[in-house]
Amino acid sequence: MLTWAPGKARHNTPIITHGEGVYLYDDKGTKFLDWTSQAVCSNIGYDLPEAVIEATTKQMSTLPFVYGGLGISEVRARLSKLMTELLPGDLQGMVFPSCGSEANEAAIMMARRYTGKYKVINWYRSYHGGTSNSQQATGDFRRWFGGDHVPGFVKAFHPFPLFWDLAGATEEERTQHALNMLEEQILNEGPDSIAMVQFESVIGGGGVLVPPKGYMQGVRAMCDKYDILMHCDEVMVGFGRTGELFGFQNYEGVIPDIVTAAKGVTSAALPLSMTACRKHIMEAFEEKPLGWGSTYASHPVAMACAYENIKYLIKNDVIGHVQRLAPTLESEMRRLTENHPSIKQYRSIGMFGCFDAHLPDGSNPQLQHTAIDKAFVEYKKAYTANGLIGLLRPPHMHVAPPLVISEEELLDGFDRQDKALYALDDALGF
Ligand code: PMP
Repeated sequence: MLTWAPGKARHNTPIITHGEGVYLYDDKGTKFLDWTSQAVCSNIGYDLPEAVIEATTKQMSTLPFVYGGLGISEVRARLSKLMTELLPGDLQGMVFPSCGSEANEAAIMMARRYTGKYKVINWYRSYHGGTSNSQQATGDFRRWFGGDHVPGFVKAFHPFPLFWDLAGATEEERTQHALNMLEEQILNEGPDSIAMVQFESVIGGGGVLVPPKGYMQGVRAMCDKYDILMHCDEVMVGFGRTGELFGFQNYEGVIPDIVTAAKGVTSAALPLSMTACRKHIMEAFEEKPLGWGSTYASHPVAMACAYENIKYLIKNDVIGHVQRLAPTLESEMRRLTENHPSIKQYRSIGMFGCFDAHLPDGSNPQLQHTAIDKAFVEYKKAYTANGLIGLLRPPHMHVAPPLVISEEELLDGFDRQDKALYALDDALGF
């Protein structure tokens, strides 16, 4: 097959022909349980509701496209209204780009133009996208690919002690310590130069990292104190993944100034994202243009899909379903961690979990890429042989099946992963 897929790791990837429920099938007829909703995006699986198909088909035949600079489609007005009702507080100014990276570009531009300041603070381990600013906002190795030489992006440590700890500290002490460090950083960078703090509500690709209790409230208060905007990137966790509609709703009382979402907006059936801001920010752009736009923004067919997808989530109480299954996901993760020496620890929230692999010598797995990467090649073979398909990001192993998975399917997925993990135990030398 002549398509450009760089890197040997991509070789021998299956040719996917169709999906059904929470399963994907390849051209050889193999059935895979989708263990990470692909890129944590196919949230309602592959049997799209009739309403989604009907609405997109109808939109396609009545008005397939309206350029945002020329007019507003009826569906854009309808989706904006729905989103304004669903978002808490006065979050309401919205643009609708086509992907998460673009939504974050729009957020960065919005924050810089609104505040007249330029620096953006992000966490190490975060991912914000593959376009120029969103890539530089990214805190993991993917930032390096873009050159890592763009000024204005400052990195802070995430407060979750992933492979280090403040020995014996309580959660409250960790929160306070992390907030003190962030404040020190803000003061040293100069609050007058900082436009916004841009954090994933829950770090997703970087390992399902939930900030300790009180931390996000502390960030909110610090942003108010220093006149800095607070942005929550909900691209991966928005629309139910954590058991709340938006991830930041896990932090009582926190309303960000800017919110971006993508993936779950349409459950990935069509490309669409969203950048929403609070009323006063929106109003500031009534006098001067935001200056952000793209040809495909507010694409009516994608918006018709989003509207019905969100209605489906609500009507079928998909978020309630996530909350009900979350304890099963958590206890199964504990079972597998106890069963496999190759797993150092796990974390979970809602329908979102992550195991971390480590080496027998106890060294920091983040510093041992080669050994762990090699072992993951063997693990991936076993994972696939046991009928799982999903993202593997050494040393992390995510668990993020479609939100609509049944309890039986979830337990079956963990049994498959349990079997596959023996290969990882062996490959890592346990
Ligand atoms: N932000 C977060 C938190 C993400 O997880 C991702 C994608 N994984 C992005 C932004 C970028 O989104 P996209 O790939 O749609 O551009």
